[in-house]
Amino acid sequence: MSRTVTELLAITADFFQKKGIESPRLDAELLLGKVLGLSRIQLYTHFDQPLQEPELDEFRELVRRRGKREPVAYILGRREFFGRDFTVTRDTLVPRPDTEILVETALGRLKEYPPDKVLKAADICTGTGAIAITVALEMKGRAQVTATDISPKALAVARINKEKLAAGESVTFRPGDLFQALKPGEKFTAILSNPPYISEEEMAALPPEVQAEPSLALCGGRDGLDFYRRLINEAPEYLEPGGFLAMEIGSEQGEPVAELARQAGFCGPAAIEIIRDLSGHPRVAVMKKDYEY
Ligand code: SAM
Ligand code: GLN
Repeated sequence: MSRTVTELLAITADFFQKKGIESPRLDAELLLGKVLGLSRIQLYTHFDQPLQEPELDEFRELVRRRGKREPVAYILGRREFFGRDFTVTRDTLVPRPDTEILVETALGRLKEYPPDKVLKAADICTGTGAIAITVALEMKGRAQVTATDISPKALAVARINKEKLAAGESVTFRPGDLFQALKPGEKFTAILSNPPYISEEEMAALPPEVQAEPSLALCGGRDGLDFYRRLINEAPEYLEPGGFLAMEIGSEQGEPVAELARQAGFCGPAAIEIIRDLSGHPRVAVMKKDYEY
């Protein structure tokens, strides 16, 4: 006799648990929901629905992939970020909730500028386009956002997201190595980035799901700080007077990143701010250059 939704969820959650997966029940629900075309809530209203043989075959295949610790987002081909559905592929980092803090910080500051000011933002290292597209949509067309990435494959995904989420003319993509993707002399109100920041040593110890992501999106060199050195030193050339640089940082990187900023001439009481996440860990660094003495 064919198994029901309830039975399959229980068996699968148990299997995932044994594989060391962090959220076994949730993952089982997401995968079964994909096969049946049902939301997680709908799964519960269809709890006694038996699966047809082709559905069961498809579900078994997804469970097998997840059992090998392939990220759920890659299996589903999507991940929610700031309440919107982003397409993700193996060429892109899976957007993280941590990065919503960077977006919230940037939005808060952008909204403080006078309403008639033309706002220009750059998202350096855009991946799926999560930061750029969210900022553009949340600013309701008030900000023009330029998004860059060195990976043409990641930019292709970001373009899909721009179309899917109808970000229209307010987001432009440019391929290239950090600021080299921008036009010389171009100035921005806000430069935003979630660059790769994992150290070479930490790379080897990452959970299998994170190791499945492109190392190009994760590895920040020997000490994890390579991208901050370049971003902090080069950003002032691309910032308008009164503009700011805001970057996501790793939980241990608050002090080293602040030190890099001091060395680059960001000084004065309000020039460097480290914002913490809900667990109290440093998560975002914001820098303004107009306090230089
Ligand atoms: N912004 C996305 C997010 O927050 O989900 C993706 C961030 S991911 C940590 C870093 C991205 O930087 C990857 O998409 C990678 O391709 C890109 N990248 C790596 N090296 C780069 C470089 N030298 N110049 C521009 N982009 C780079
Ligand atoms: N937050 C990611 C992780 O720790 C790292 C992303 C990044 O390097 N920017 O898995």
